[in-house]
Amino acid sequence: MARIMVPNDLDAHWMPFTANRQFKANPRLLVGAKGMYYTSHDGREVLDGCAGLWCVNAGHGRDRISEAVARQISEMDYSPSFQMGHPKAFELATRLVELAPAGIDHVFYCNSGSEAVDTALKMALAYHRIRGDASRTRLIGRERGYHGVGFGGISVGGIVSNRKHFGTMLGGVDHLRHTHDLDRNAFSWGQPEHGAELADDLERLVALHDASTIAAVIVEPIAGSTGVLIPPKGYLQRLREICDRHGILLIFDEVICGFGRTGRNFGADSFGVTPDMMTTAKGITNGAVPMGAVFAKKEIYDAFMTGPEHLIEFFHGYTYSGHPLACAAALATLDIYAEEKLFDRAAAMADYFGKAAHALRDLPNVIDIRNYGMVAAVELSSRAGEPTKRAYEVFVRAYEQGVLLRYTGDIIAISPPLIINEGEIDRLFEVLSEAIKTVA
Ligand code: PLP
Repeated sequence: MARIMVPNDLDAHWMPFTANRQFKANPRLLVGAKGMYYTSHDGREVLDGCAGLWCVNAGHGRDRISEAVARQISEMDYSPSFQMGHPKAFELATRLVELAPAGIDHVFYCNSGSEAVDTALKMALAYHRIRGDASRTRLIGRERGYHGVGFGGISVGGIVSNRKHFGTMLGGVDHLRHTHDLDRNAFSWGQPEHGAELADDLERLVALHDASTIAAVIVEPIAGSTGVLIPPKGYLQRLREICDRHGILLIFDEVICGFGRTGRNFGADSFGVTPDMMTTAKGITNGAVPMGAVFAKKEIYDAFMTGPEHLIEFFHGYTYSGHPLACAAALATLDIYAEEKLFDRAAAMADYFGKAAHALRDLPNVIDIRNYGMVAAVELSSRAGEPTKRAYEVFVRAYEQGVLLRYTGDIIAISPPLIINEGEIDRLFEVLSEAIKTVA
């Protein structure tokens, strides 16, 4: 039976990253979630095609996670995170570094992807300073990068709308060119063939600024929020080599790629490149409790562990760093990932999923389809003078037909929970296909 559960007054809630007036005129509320499905406010089942916001990798309503969180809140709701600790924070850190590529063996907690990015950037700056290399203050991001919404993240990020309203942001930042090249790579399966040489753009920035001024480069292994931009073959390897040549730290923003999305633990594993730091969030708790974590190599941690032992080595942290509820949720989440072998499942399902995505190639207005692991994108041509409208209409149409997707610009992104089965993949792409045809 249809349930209508829209609050009478939607006005007070200023919604994030939402066209508030458009939304409030025609609200889409979610009121329940189990497995692969949400329940909408009007009582419909909605297949989750985007794992919430790329975070619910093990599917919704996992009892193991909710029970762990419930146990933790009654046992100890909160403990201070400065100069004090609690056992689960340490246990979780050990479990997390077991998942990380060899050599990355320390974890610093925060509460979101944005905080993870700002933390990693600060860590990079402080690392060089501590080692007596204080002129390395420049941070390099990439066009079309998304690194959250903190001032550090928007400064190294490369999304115009994220930057244009907010003044001068961080100084001393520059950007690599992005790797999206439909002329050469449209409809690639997996990693595109062309574009490894775009990593050489870092040499251009080194020539311009001098390596002695550059602290770190941050990129997403797969750029998610700007439309699923998959790294060309060899690109990340080349970036790694150039960073090594010039003593520049390489940070992978794994907020979307981490925890199985690419079919391995991290994008770093899938692409065979180990960064110096990784930023993570989202899938770390299956989205159930906010949490972020920065992973760092031993050399970085060790560099801080010098100087007088009674002094704080890294002057940074959050009231909720390693919150007990987040740690309990993350431990339960890692158990589920391991026991259900969900990352292997993602790898095994990737072929079926990718083929279902590429089957949409001849639909109207489709100018590219790309896929890697359990993430795919369908790029649509923009209507003249109305960028993003076509994708928005596809998103709304699919939602009305019972599938939740994400869109960014005129790109539809698909990144379902890793528990999705073949029948659900079929349904997801049938609805998307019908929506693309209907909207035209
Ligand atoms: N970094 C990347 C790569 C992301 O995709 C996101 C969010 O989508 C963030 C950072 C920001 O994460 P949060 O929204 O948790 O601050």
